[in-house]
Amino acid sequence: MTHHSVCLTFDFDGVSSWIHSFESPDSPTKLSRGLFGVDVGAPRVLDLLDQFDVESTWFTPGHTIDSFPERAEEVWTRGHDIQHHGWSHTRPRQYESKAAERADIERGVESIVELTGNRPTGYRSPSWDFSLHTLDILRELGFEWDSSQMATDFVPYYVREGWKAPADGPFERGTETELVEVPVSWHRDDFPAFAFNRERGYTNERAIFRQWREQFDWMVEHVDGGVFVLTMHPQVIGHGHRLDRLESFIEHVADTPSVEFETVEAVVERFDSA
Ligand SMILES: [Zn+2]
Repeated sequence: MTHHSVCLTFDFDGVSSWIHSFESPDSPTKLSRGLFGVDVGAPRVLDLLDQFDVESTWFTPGHTIDSFPERAEEVWTRGHDIQHHGWSHTRPRQYESKAAERADIERGVESIVELTGNRPTGYRSPSWDFSLHTLDILRELGFEWDSSQMATDFVPYYVREGWKAPADGPFERGTETELVEVPVSWHRDDFPAFAFNRERGYTNERAIFRQWREQFDWMVEHVDGGVFVLTMHPQVIGHGHRLDRLESFIEHVADTPSVEFETVEAVVERFDSA
């Protein structure tokens, strides 16, 4: 029987990304963009998800959990899955050593265990980047899946190790590991589309939501078993009028036979047991 999944995922960065990935710890205005996500965006998103009884996945840095424990707990107690997104939201390739990267990931695990009582099984890299150590660290720490890479658009696959990308020779793919990848796309992410920075101007918001809908419709028609991962940030999607557009998108998905909203974890469990 035909089956499709939609994973609504929220990268709950809070202020961590502004401190560690955009390197502006002394900018009150940038930090306030993160606070908007915690104080205003997240509650609005949670209310919308309640309205449709949709379970979603929140990739939450330990820094967010430790800084805003009550909001993080609210996400958890309102029925959403919380998975790993670094402790500090440092881009993996910026660590000076494997030990430093591993320590940050371990610290993030501790924050999640303290909140939920469970070890996270999934990882989403801050800024969707891997260092040359990230895969090994995830396996050493018992992670089962990742959602940061893009070798397919709507179908999970196994991350490979031992690949080679020499500048003066052919690329070698390497071999499959047991780490499941549930792929993402910059085209299904609210941050590059809507978060203003000085290198890009404003986007036609209506066009972006139409694009998401058309991508979803294409997947339903062409990819049996397809998984549509939409990445959002409470500090970006949580602006009121955008939530109206998100609501329309959710309605469209809910009206499509063969489709169900699922956590990324649920998608991985089905993929692994197939
Ligand atoms: Zn993030």
